[in-house]
Amino acid sequence: MSAEREGSALVTGASRGIGAAIARALARDGWPVGINYRADIEGAEAVVSEIERDGGRALALQADVADPGAAEQLFAALESAFEAPVLVLVNNAGISRDDLTPSLGDEEWAAVIDTDLSGPFRLTRRALKPMLRARSGRIVNIASVVGLRANAGQANYAAAKAGLIALTKTAAIEVARRGITVNAVAPGWIDTDMTAGVSSELLSAVPARRAGTPEEVAACVRFLVSDEASYVTGAVLSVDGGLAA
Ligand code: NDP
Repeated sequence: MSAEREGSALVTGASRGIGAAIARALARDGWPVGINYRADIEGAEAVVSEIERDGGRALALQADVADPGAAEQLFAALESAFEAPVLVLVNNAGISRDDLTPSLGDEEWAAVIDTDLSGPFRLTRRALKPMLRARSGRIVNIASVVGLRANAGQANYAAAKAGLIALTKTAAIEVARRGITVNAVAPGWIDTDMTAGVSSELLSAVPARRAGTPEEVAACVRFLVSDEASYVTGAVLSVDGGLAA
């Protein structure tokens, strides 16, 4: 493990899938990590145990990011547990509720916008205050290829992810002078619970002809969080086997 960090990292939706891989990667780089989850306490605790077994520090934190109070709750808990500011925020938690636009219900629309866009906005707003004081920080938003190009049946998800990309770019230019970077990663088809029901025939549309792994997404996040990425901000890094090319 690398040197002691002067801050901690928060990864939302880290009980499984891409978020769990990101949390493990950041812990390997020496970040004490908050493992946020909504319902899967066993998954979150398994990620914490794995990180601790490898000599890292982690804490499971329940909160629904769609809840307006979640940002304060999560940051206060992490700041007190690790006695340090949160200097890395990875907005990873996300859901999809697919239907074609003529049948898409208000509930499905609101659930996806609240979780995938409003939650990351509130977390970003809360994260920036201590980052501005520290003149240091990294925010990485997990968007999607669907925020860049159309996919039938996902108007709510596409609107949320395209909005997340626009939020990323705007926040990035607002804080660039203060040593803080804000970037997005846009995964394509990644093998997780979210894509478990999707027909593998669709893989023929992916130039790489295979799904990606959560670790391949985590490697990009790890780079954007690293000191080496200090001049990368407002960027959208596609991790999609060529799907958006
Ligand atoms: P999974 O469905 O495998 O995992 C989702 C994670 O998010 C779980 O840890 C879940 O917690 C958590 N979560 C969901 N809703 C909330 C909430 N309201 N508050 C807090 N945590 C929540 O998803 P993936 O790992 O596949 O996706 C992660 C991110 O990557 C998402 O933003 C997704 O949109 C994006 N993405 C995924 C792609 C893919 O192909 N898989 C492609 C492009 C983007 P719990 O387990 O407790 O429910």
